[in-house]
Order: sequence, then structure tokens, then C-alpha cells
Amino acid sequence: MDLLIENARLLGLEGPYQISITDGKISSIGKQAVQGVGNTAIDAKGNLVLPTFIEPHIHLDKVLLSEKLSEASSVSEARQMVREAKSHFTVGDVRERIERVVPLAIDRGVTVIRSHIDVDPYARTASLEAALEVQRKYSGIVDFQFVAFPQEGLIKNSEVLGFLQRALDMGARIVGGLPEAETNEENSKKHLEILFSLAKERDLDLDVHCDVLPNLKNIEYLATLVLKNHYEARTTVDHLIALSYYEEEFAKIVIEMIRSASINVISNPCTMMSSGKTERPPNGRGITRVKELVNAGVNVAFGSDNIVDPYNPFGDFNPLSNAFLLAYGAQMSSLSDIERVIRMPTFSSAKILGLRNYGLDVGCDADLNVFNVSKPRDLLRFHSKPRYVIKRGGVLVQNETRTTRSY
Ligand SMILES: [Zn+2]
Repeated sequence: MDLLIENARLLGLEGPYQISITDGKISSIGKQAVQGVGNTAIDAKGNLVLPTFIEPHIHLDKVLLSEKLSEASSVSEARQMVREAKSHFTVGDVRERIERVVPLAIDRGVTVIRSHIDVDPYARTASLEAALEVQRKYSGIVDFQFVAFPQEGLIKNSEVLGFLQRALDMGARIVGGLPEAETNEENSKKHLEILFSLAKERDLDLDVHCDVLPNLKNIEYLATLVLKNHYEARTTVDHLIALSYYEEEFAKIVIEMIRSASINVISNPCTMMSSGKTERPPNGRGITRVKELVNAGVNVAFGSDNIVDPYNPFGDFNPLSNAFLLAYGAQMSSLSDIERVIRMPTFSSAKILGLRNYGLDVGCDADLNVFNVSKPRDLLRFHSKPRYVIKRGGVLVQNETRTTRSY
């Protein structure tokens, strides 16, 4: 054994548990005491231990752009501002911005990141090249997955498909999409059809921005394509804000379509809560029907989406801040709801990213966060950094925070 975590509390279980780690894996986990480990033990002091966090949805190529740009007043304006900025992207500039935020993620216990990366005639493949360089630099510390993202549309801009294919050749492993980037419904459908044929051809998963704006209904056609192409459990849709605006009866039908096609859903509360600011009151909350989806049995997670760019003026890569925001926005505040929210940046995201060795079972990778609170509610109240961030059995970060007493 290389490391022992003593007196750990696990989500939803009465403790304390002892977790042994050998060769980067969890070698035992149970309530019985483990002897003779000397100073290779961490005392969790009865506090929560979770697998490290997963960031399932961020746009690393755009982080910190707002250091140079002013604030956008709408999603459409943000898209326009980013389009102009992309023409000036270089590999060095994008890499430098990404490298400034990755340490924030690690410090907050995030060791797996799925990022969408724009590929089009504006950004070319510069952003992906930068992201792949960062991936190599952080090998063994942060596991990255990159989504080739055709933000500028596939039909509207016929050059984009070539860039998308090149990005998949270069190392992007997921096919992204944005059907609403097209100019009409028919072309949005064609956009989705191209995504499915690309994904099938290369045996890749799909992760599609879908119905970000309230007046859209792309999810219905997407769900039919999932079933037709046998892509159940391999397709994720992001935002899905329009679902919140549908009439109740229609929303129920769509949720059932999502459930029966085993589509994963990712909400991004921090960016989209401000997207309704151009509406007349009452302003939309900018999040999908998280609670109804979860209650229907849909796998739901949440992401940061953006950090200090025209879509989001804030963002610090802390899943617990986003969990806090989601719990309020989705009105998930009962003790059982809080546990479900905490499962989103952990187990639910692992399912989306297809991480087979993730979790707290014997044989799983020893990627663990040791917190300074014992109650799930206090994770969301204080959203403090983990005391220890452990990756493959090695301590990556030790934050010397005091154990926060529950009042
Ligand atoms: Zn996004």
C-alpha cells in the first residue's frame, strides 16, 4: 500500500471508511482499521471524500478573452464578438490563456476536463493545437477530452466541415455541434445529420449545443437521430434552455423523448443565467428543466462553460460554486437533491465522459478529493477547496484549510 485515507465519509453512507491506495488504484475500501502505514496516511477527520471533480463542459479556447473585450449584451452579440476575436488567435496566445486557468481547476480538485474547441476559418485549428500542447504538458495530472466544435455552422459556412474533419484527425475525440448556428430549420436538421454521419464513421461520441435560445426545438429531431443511428448513451446535449420555455404538456413529451434515447444533458447555470437579460421581466433563468429531467431518470450534469469571456464575466473553475448556483436556479435544495447535485460533477459527468476507472470501488483510479466538511450541504454552503487533491495515488495539492465547523 502506498497511501491510506483514514476516517473518510462517503456520500450517502455512514462512515467512517478507510481507503487504501496501491499503484495509483484503490486497493481496498471498508470500515475496518488498517494498521502499520506510518506517515503515509491522511486523516480525513470524518469529512467527505469524493472522486476528483470532472469539468464536462468548458470552452478553454475562449477563457479570459474579456480581459481585452467589453461585456456582451446578449448571446448573439457574444457570438459576434468571439468570431472577431478568433481571427486574431495564435497557438501561443490561446495556450497562454489556457495555462492561466488550468491551475485554478487543479486547486479546486478538478482533474478531468472536457473542452469544446472552435474549429472554423476564423480560429482555424490554432486553438486545438494550443489545447493539445496543454494536454501533453499536464499528462498524468489533468485528463483532457476535446470536442471539435463548429460554432460557425456547417451549412452556413461550407469551409467548416473540412476544419472539423481535420480537428478529428488531429486528436479531438468528440464531435460537437450547434444546429442553431444555421439560418433555418431545414439547415439545422442537415447540420445534425452531418454530425451523426461523422460520429458514426469514426465511432465517436457526440456532444451538441442544443436549443440555447428560447425559441428553438432542435432537440426533437436530434432525439430521433439518436434512435435511428443507435447512439443511445453516446449523445450529450448542452444548455437545452428552450425546454424551460415549452408548455408543460409538450415539455413532458420532450423529456420522455430524451429519456428513451438515453441522451445526457449538461446545464451551464453560470453563463446562461445572464442570457435572459435582454428579455422583459420576468427574465428567464437560463437553465433547462434540471429537476424534471433528473426525476425522469435522465443523466444530468453541469459545467462552467466559460470563464471571463463575453458569455460569462466571472468563473473560477470551482464546480462547487456552479453547484451552488444550480441548486438555487433549479430549486434543488432538499438533502436528497443536494446529494444529486454533488453527483453531477462526479459520477454523472463520469458517465458522460465514458470514464471506466472512475469512482470509489476497488480497482478504480485513486483520483480523490479530501474535503474539510462532513456534510454534503456544507460543500455547497462554503464551496471551499479540497484539503487534498489526489491523482493516481499522489498528492497534487494540499490546501491547508481549517476544518469548517457546521453551525
Ligand atoms: Zn458551451
